[in-house]
Amino acid sequence: MSSLPLSDLEQNQDFIRRHIGPTAPETAQMLEHLNVSSLDELINQTVPEDIRLHAPLAIDESLSEQAALAKIRKIAQLNKVNRSYIGMGYHNTHVPNVILRNVFENPGWYTAYTPYQPEIAQGRLEALLNFQQMTLDLTGLELASASLLDEATAAAEAMALAKRVSKNRKSNLYFVANDVHPQTVDVVHERADFFGFEIVRGDAAELEQHNCFGALLQYPGTSGEITDLAPIIAAAQAKKSIVAVSADILALVLLKSPGALGADVVLGSAQRFGVPMGYGGPHAAFFATRDAYKRSLPGRIIGVSKDRRGNNALRMALQTREQHIRREKANSNICTAQVLLANMASFYAVFHGPTGLKTIANRVHRLTKILALGLKQHAIKLRHEHYFDTLCVELNNSDEVNQRALALGMNLRTDFDGALGVSLDETTTIGDVCELLAVFVGPDNEIDAQELDLLATEQVAIPSQLERDTPILEHEVFNRYSSETDVLRYIKRLESKDLALNHSMISLGSCTMKLNATAEMIPVSWPEFGSMHPFCPSDQAQGYKQLIDQLEDWLVEVTGYDSICMQPNSGAQGEYAGLLAIQKYHASRGDHHRNICLIPSSAHGTNPASAQMAGLKVVVTACDEHGNVDMVDLRNKAEELADSLSCIMITYPSTHGVYEETIREICDLVHEHGGQVYMDGANMNAQVGLTSPGFIGSDVSHLNLHKTFAIPHGGGGPGMGPIGVKSHLAPFVAGHSVISNGKQSASNPAVSAAPYGSASILPISWMYLAMLGREGAKNASEYAILNANYLAKRLSGHFPILYTGKNGRVAHECIIDMRPLKEATGITEMDVAKRLNDYGFHAPTMSFPVAGTLMVEPTESESKREIDRFIDAMISIRQEIAKVESGEWTLEDNPLVFAPHVLDDLTDANWEHSYSRELAVFPSDAVRSNKFWPTVSRIDDVFGDRNLFCACLPMEAYE
Ligand SMILES: *Cc1c(COP(=O)(O)O)cnc(C)c1O
Repeated sequence: MSSLPLSDLEQNQDFIRRHIGPTAPETAQMLEHLNVSSLDELINQTVPEDIRLHAPLAIDESLSEQAALAKIRKIAQLNKVNRSYIGMGYHNTHVPNVILRNVFENPGWYTAYTPYQPEIAQGRLEALLNFQQMTLDLTGLELASASLLDEATAAAEAMALAKRVSKNRKSNLYFVANDVHPQTVDVVHERADFFGFEIVRGDAAELEQHNCFGALLQYPGTSGEITDLAPIIAAAQAKKSIVAVSADILALVLLKSPGALGADVVLGSAQRFGVPMGYGGPHAAFFATRDAYKRSLPGRIIGVSKDRRGNNALRMALQTREQHIRREKANSNICTAQVLLANMASFYAVFHGPTGLKTIANRVHRLTKILALGLKQHAIKLRHEHYFDTLCVELNNSDEVNQRALALGMNLRTDFDGALGVSLDETTTIGDVCELLAVFVGPDNEIDAQELDLLATEQVAIPSQLERDTPILEHEVFNRYSSETDVLRYIKRLESKDLALNHSMISLGSCTMKLNATAEMIPVSWPEFGSMHPFCPSDQAQGYKQLIDQLEDWLVEVTGYDSICMQPNSGAQGEYAGLLAIQKYHASRGDHHRNICLIPSSAHGTNPASAQMAGLKVVVTACDEHGNVDMVDLRNKAEELADSLSCIMITYPSTHGVYEETIREICDLVHEHGGQVYMDGANMNAQVGLTSPGFIGSDVSHLNLHKTFAIPHGGGGPGMGPIGVKSHLAPFVAGHSVISNGKQSASNPAVSAAPYGSASILPISWMYLAMLGREGAKNASEYAILNANYLAKRLSGHFPILYTGKNGRVAHECIIDMRPLKEATGITEMDVAKRLNDYGFHAPTMSFPVAGTLMVEPTESESKREIDRFIDAMISIRQEIAKVESGEWTLEDNPLVFAPHVLDDLTDANWEHSYSRELAVFPSDAVRSNKFWPTVSRIDDVFGDRNLFCACLPMEAYE
């Protein structure tokens, strides 16, 4: 048996034992239940022989937590943290410590999933609603979404929205102003190319000369200038253009909102509201638009609805816009999207309130004025008269000044012709400003800060017509929690409403909710990782370089590919990036016409959505009755479409939870017809150490580091979706125009704002692989398969398991078919999902990939005891359904259809159900000792969509 003798662990394998749920005796019992004598035997029965890897992974031996932390500490110390004045959408910020410890570092917040089960997610839904309210106040628009991946991709989404809603239907032209951040321009350009739009550049004032469907402006501009956009916007709108404005969130505290200036869309990064720069991410982008465009809004919208008892309850609204329903017609491919960081930013606004934010913004602005005045006194010219926190300093010795700054540990922005950029932020002090002045004017010049400050008060740097004249954050939630005690309790109150991994197993199929070990999280808080600007000189980021290089090497080994591109910041972004690489590869061979993407019907909704964004035409291929790709249908379509075949997107093992035996044949078939194979890597947890996409014959995959490689889901993000590619695709992966990473061709456009996406969470995956090592990484896959098969076998006596592979085995997840019971009794998969809440569990994935089913993925990290508790709950629920079947309970009145039950049910004077209150809320003994109370009862989705309300409710509503 290749599995570890768990009773006989060496010290350095300690982490493996902590990561993997079942103990040695439990493992033995589970194997016995499955009628196999060893884990090897189970794996042999499950994974097809012709794709098995037999050599061990060439990654290091497992390290203990202590050794791994010591090693990554050394790597971190290779990063040199300068004071950053670079700006460009990334600023220093003070993360309020109460948020740092109680949100950022708190598994109650970071291990939750996307709030698809809103009854047990009201806490983060409320925090996200606060984020939307904050966005509305600051942007001056009518409707905001919860969060997007970064500013640059949000700008690209704004362009797509403009195309959908613009009345200038004939135009294919999109205008991007000259003073937009270069990384934003890069990402928008790339997106436009594949949508078939043309980009035109120019000064914002030139916008009206163009006949375009939309435009992107920036406020303040990338070089710091504030201009009145109102006449520019009005002129463009008169010509039926949709105008998007990318804005700085802190500047908006003092400036008239872009909405008030007429903008149709306002977007930007919420990073400087208390989220570390982290060498580029993760951060949340905000996005707001007019109410009229609500059906075109990308990403998630949190809305207010009612629960069964008539109470207000929050949920994700208008989901019919999204990829899991609209597939290739979706507004965007956004799935995982920075929820944790949006929540941090919204708590930052709660923590500071409107007065605190104004104080911060005013201080930053005043310091900038002092700096400006000091420079002017020394006859140094500023490019712009009007600014908020960023100066563009004209110099004829900019190199010399920059060298002086670097020598003193300061980073300035250097990509202006003959000028240097300086951006101040909430961490800047008057001492910093004096040091900066000394850098510019030379050390021998006298600086009198007091005098400068006096003079600065008379300076006008924000034109009076652009001063904000409307209040912000008037809602009570932003004005109520002033003391730290109150903020702490507010955070805790919301946390308590949410079920996360620190309460019980979250068996969401395809989501891989495994252990996010504390040791893996610890380095993320270190300033050597958190305080790095993504565009700092690369000699300062040697720690990151070493970390990323090593992680890439490991991932190359794990995937069987030749190289990794670390830029995409979600799985769906990885899909997009991978498809672009395929299209560019085809184009490089003269195959510009290849535009068909085959996608099996079982695919995740992001696949067709991403294909559409890459300019591909989706052709769906059928699955047979065993859930496998229908080879006849695939062969016919591949042959018929061979001339224009671009690729297939296939998930392996499939989302049906089995290892398709024909996977090699599928790869060969597509290759024969000139196509490429994109293997969706979301299910890598069933491959690591056992097989690999590269070995199987695929050309490119994304990895969800937030699934397989232990980055927590954060309640719906962050994530990382790096892609692995075979060497022939390597020249076509994303590069970056601002900072070259030395590997990827710098001339390739970017898909994300930052060169390494959400770099600051890469230490988590590094720690994961360092501590598991070659043996543990493989064990993780083996135990994921063991746990899933054990669960499937035990449940199969009670519910049909929809698909199994040869030998009756499932992969690392399985689908429970609820349709026969629904037919027989009327009880739905939704009722079962909600009833599981009463038993203290999060529901499995509902109705994906097959409507009317539940997909369960226990992962390797759950112990037999926890899995048994889940199975027992499911069996008990089955018995409850039997009572509906037998007529003991009617379909109208039973504990399933009224689930989940809440405290109000217990205390309701009029309990009129045919089952007891006790059965309602304590359906098992296990629940009594560890009850999780859903805070609202079943939510009415239809009501919420019909009466769309996406801002904070008046405070009484919460009481
Ligand atoms: C999660 C998932 C994705 C999308 O990944 P995100 O990181 O959420 O964008 C794609 N495909 C499959 C099969 C998935 O499970």
